[in-house]
Amino acid sequence: MVRSPLLSYNAPIPKLAMAENLLLIPSPFYRCAGPNCGVLKGGSDRWWIMWSSFGDYKFPVMHLAPWDEKLALQEGAMHVCGEGCAQKLQSQFMGNVLQSRVRGNGG
Ligand SMILES: [Zn+2]
Repeated sequence: MVRSPLLSYNAPIPKLAMAENLLLIPSPFYRCAGPNCGVLKGGSDRWWIMWSSFGDYKFPVMHLAPWDEKLALQEGAMHVCGEGCAQKLQSQFMGNVLQSRVRGNGG
């Protein structure tokens, strides 16, 4: 009986230990920007994102978008817990715009 020099058995492939290089970015806590609200965002809430910009216009523009993680992280993004707070922020925004317009006109 001639033994083969080659190992005939299947060496068990060592299972790769789960590398801990998968850094899970801790999801930041989002707080509602609504006046007198400040509710913390849960995982399943249907939230909205608002932000204002001048964009291509001369005037400030209010943006409203459904929740998106990328949008949520953008600078100046306001996290809104719902329609009620969105409306409050909208009226706040409109008030600010009118105020600055009045000031800008100088009477
Ligand atoms: Zn709110």
